Amino acid sequence: MAAYLAKAGVSCVVFERELFPRPHVGESLVPSSTRVFKDLDFLPQMEAAKFPHKYGAVWTTDDKKTPYVHDLEGLAPDCNVDIRFDERQQVGVDKNHTYHVDRGKFDLMLLQHANKLGATVYDGIKVSAVDFGPKEPIVRFHMGSKEMGVSAKMVVDASGRNTFLGNQMKLKVQDTVFDQYAIHSWFDSYDRKVFAKRETNLDYIYIHFLPISNTWIWQIPISDDVTSIGVVTQKKNFAKSKEDREKFFWSSVGTRPMIEETLRKANRIRPFKDEGDYSYAMKQLAGDRVVLVGDAGRFVDPIFSTGVSIALNCSRFAHKDIIGALETGNFSRESFETYESTLKRGTKNWYNFITVYYRLNVLFTAFVQDPRYRLDVLKLLQGDVYDDAEPPVLTRMRNIVQQVEKDPNHALHGFLGDLTADAFVEAASV
Ligand SMILES: Cc1cc2nc3c(=O)[nH]c(=O)nc-3n(C[C@H](O)[C@H](O)[C@H](O)COP(=O)(O)OP(=O)(O)OC[C@H]3O[C@@H](n4cnc5c(N)ncnc54)[C@H](O)[C@@H]3O)c2cc1C
Repeated sequence: MAAYLAKAGVSCVVFERELFPRPHVGESLVPSSTRVFKDLDFLPQMEAAKFPHKYGAVWTTDDKKTPYVHDLEGLAPDCNVDIRFDERQQVGVDKNHTYHVDRGKFDLMLLQHANKLGATVYDGIKVSAVDFGPKEPIVRFHMGSKEMGVSAKMVVDASGRNTFLGNQMKLKVQDTVFDQYAIHSWFDSYDRKVFAKRETNLDYIYIHFLPISNTWIWQIPISDDVTSIGVVTQKKNFAKSKEDREKFFWSSVGTRPMIEETLRKANRIRPFKDEGDYSYAMKQLAGDRVVLVGDAGRFVDPIFSTGVSIALNCSRFAHKDIIGALETGNFSRESFETYESTLKRGTKNWYNFITVYYRLNVLFTAFVQDPRYRLDVLKLLQGDVYDDAEPPVLTRMRNIVQQVEKDPNHALHGFLGDLTADAFVEAASV
């Protein structure tokens, strides 16, 4: 956001509580982020940083067991299903790849880029409050032992899952359906060839389904040698203590013996890190003199690696409304209506996609393979979620889920995940 605003000549200040670089979860991007990098003239730097190019995604199930058997035409089972981003053209995205990133490095590069474009950046400064009153809001923080405050025409909350203003303004609504936890680390010398059907698939993101309800593993290349591996599960499955969590990691991985075998041969090079209880929405994404962007505004399960790209696109949309407000002098919530409605449409689609994915479970791969749905699914996977109010492929997936749900004798009934499609309807209205 600071890069967008500074590039447009707006005077802005960033307060970041950590000293960068710092590690962060969320390492695999989707192609809609390319539009932002282009807007900000940041693509040459992404290339120069030599982040692994991400050309697509693969979903795997245990190839020793047939994942499912049925007789629906076109919906064939497969244990290793892949898709390439360049199978569908995207307006404004002229690259056939996106990136996997070391977030320490990537986030530092973006912060420095904003600074270079003219934004003032303070890292190591934690915002303690924002006072909204009849006049301009005042952002409060400490410098050493001194309490300070600056006034600004507008405040943008980009505080991530810390949800700083969402908490202060009591906007946060916890998600009752998705209450996932994750445990993850980096591994050196993990042999990515083991799961690659083709040489060209080596640097895809891999999503490995586990035979534990609503549980999966991510495999994300960080460099030629280093791979990020994480297990995502539901709260009810997750262990309480740190020690038990590591055991949980290894026992989950052990449900896919080939993954365990490959991982045991690799070296863990970072401590395990866990992330908990992380899905929520906000009652509003904008107010008078304030907008919420990225995770500060919404978070849902990271199954489609959309978080960073959505955060980037929040700023792509919201900075226009902010510049509009600066021009008219009207900073009331209605000035940010375009941003708020665009984001709500996008995150509703994204949320519905995730919900139907968890319900479809391994059957999701059938949609990826079916030519009738493949490109529409790909559009969502590319991060293009903002333009349709209800993408037809989601309606189709939901109808199929509902048909299978209603019929206990249906060949696919036993393969549905246990997150219900009713939750889908209720939660989507947040
Ligand atoms: C388990 C898991 C896996 C994920 N995998 C992926 C993935 O593969 N791909 C993907 O795109 N996304 C993924 N995500 C999501 C991704 O991490 C986020 O969507 C993304 O980082 C959001 O960016 P952001 O800028 O909104 O927030 P952040 O990147 O979290 O940045 C917020 C910043 O605000 C700072 N801050 C917070 N409070 C204050 C304060 N009071 N004062 C000053 N500074 C403050 C923080 O220090 C932080 O640097 C994953 C998330 C989880 C939990």
